[in-house]
Amino acid sequence: HFAYEKDREILKGITMNFPANSFISFVGESGCGKSTLAGILTARNRGYSGSVKVGGVDISQIREEELMAHMTKITHNSYLFAGTVEENLRMAKPDATREELEYVLEKVNLLAFLKEQDGLQTVLLEKGGNFSGGQRQRIGIARALIMEPEFVVADEPISALDVSIRAQVLNLLNQLKASRGLTYLFIAHDLSVVRHISDRLGVMYLGSIVEMGDKHTLFTNPVHPYTKVLFAAVPTVGEKPLVQGIDAKGEIPSPVNLPKGCYFSDRCPYATDRCRQEKPVLREVEPGHMAACHLL
Ligand code: SF4
Repeated sequence: HFAYEKDREILKGITMNFPANSFISFVGESGCGKSTLAGILTARNRGYSGSVKVGGVDISQIREEELMAHMTKITHNSYLFAGTVEENLRMAKPDATREELEYVLEKVNLLAFLKEQDGLQTVLLEKGGNFSGGQRQRIGIARALIMEPEFVVADEPISALDVSIRAQVLNLLNQLKASRGLTYLFIAHDLSVVRHISDRLGVMYLGSIVEMGDKHTLFTNPVHPYTKVLFAAVPTVGEKPLVQGIDAKGEIPSPVNLPKGCYFSDRCPYATDRCRQEKPVLREVEPGHMAACHLL
């Protein structure tokens, strides 16, 4: 449970539980608070009240060096420096044994490739010339995993990769979930990817969770007007659209000037006077399926 209210009134009083060994995705337009959420959950952003616990440990109370043993973050562009693969991995765990280094590189399917080069001493060139984008992302994932975290926040981890490589990296994340029992919070804007990989899905709008449930339920029976708007915008080729006949008015408002009542009321085609006065709370609309809308 936490509340983040630093400069903007977003992510206020959110309580979430992520079941172990599951893949939970959060979607929403730019500015909806997904990356702020990632920052809070990885304790990079400590400007909140409340607590974030991983396996019972409150990560807001532990030192940075201990953090990676519980959780870590993968982004779309893992920062790697010009140096050997080994040096890049030791950045996360300086005292790692050779076996540990080789183990994670094997897990991300890079060890055989490296052995054909100079092994762990293969140098990453600054502009990445000797490694493909997918291979660099795999090194970033290996570095994230070497501390054996339980929880991984993956913030748009494939958005910078070629389409041909995206499926490989997603499959790798899924394999690691099964083999290492990882729990992922996956932040994305590409709903087709989210549909493929998630167990549960949360939809965010201006720092609030407006709908949450298991993937099948949300994709077959979205109930919140904003979720329907998001799904209606997904391009489909030769398939029935996920949702038809709904569109939002205008643009997402500035988080510094939020509408009174429901934050979606300025854009929602079903808004009533009550919506403009009273903020709806997230509640269960059917077992395991939560939504925040006065119409439900
Ligand atoms: Fe639309 Fe009202 Fe529901 Fe908000 S509470 S999503 S404005 S119908």
